[in-house]
Amino acid sequence: MNPLIKAIAFAADKHRNQRRKDAEASPYINHPIALANVLANEGNLSEEAVLIAAILHDTIEDTETTADELRQHFGNAITTIVLEVTDDKLLEKAERKRLQVEHAPHISREAKLVKLADKICNLRDITTSPPTKWPLERKQAYFDWAKAVVDGLRGVNPALEYIFDGAFGRRP
Ligand code: ZN
Repeated sequence: MNPLIKAIAFAADKHRNQRRKDAEASPYINHPIALANVLANEGNLSEEAVLIAAILHDTIEDTETTADELRQHFGNAITTIVLEVTDDKLLEKAERKRLQVEHAPHISREAKLVKLADKICNLRDITTSPPTKWPLERKQAYFDWAKAVVDGLRGVNPALEYIFDGAFGRRP
């Protein structure tokens, strides 16, 4: 049993009908794989729980996957990390975004790493293959919000924070 490969297969199945918002409508699974790639190959992190949580990070928020299902397949520790980076979709979008900024300093180290990689990947995507319907102001607002979230978790991994700052430096 290789849990990381199992997580990739699980997430690929859960996201199988989803596409990113870029012009090419890229397969959604490219995004969680990009997070794990940033953590492992740019952040030099090898902790299996962090890499698996990165692969699974959008399954509860963006698919019908439940926390119980993740617990059953991947255990409580990984499920807890995923829940820490999952927005409550019952709340208004503006409130969800405000809570991400407010909560960032208080989540676990593992969740901070996943969140940092998520923001790095999203800024890169907006720079290189942006959502087709986003006007300039929306892209800029996303960059500023992502920086506010990351500013709240600084100290967790200076190398990845430096990479984030490089991505932020290309703010449209
Ligand atoms: Zn994400």
